[in-house]
Amino acid sequence: MSCLRWPSYGSPDARKPEFCAGHAPAGSVNKKKKKCCVDGCRSTGTFGSLDDYRMYCVQHKDITHRDLRSRKCNEEGCDKQPSYQSFKG
Ligand SMILES: [Zn+2]
Ligand SMILES: [Zn+2]
Repeated sequence: MSCLRWPSYGSPDARKPEFCAGHAPAGSVNKKKKKCCVDGCRSTGTFGSLDDYRMYCVQHKDITHRDLRSRKCNEEGCDKQPSYQSFKG
């Protein structure tokens, strides 16, 4: 169980975002603004592999790359969906 929101924030030393905006600790910076790593491409990179955090735009993504926006926040219990787990007794 973890946060379902796309993590955009992380510590300045972190190489990748770890927390969503709602769970970002103080001092976190926005890591989301990734551009396609292909030289000369100015498109926003949203695709890549989980092992290599370089990002690729939709035009340059490889068949093995996946949409990294589907990654989840590290914070447990962030999946506060009003559709369920709303009632407690
Ligand atoms: Zn979160
Ligand atoms: Zn590109």
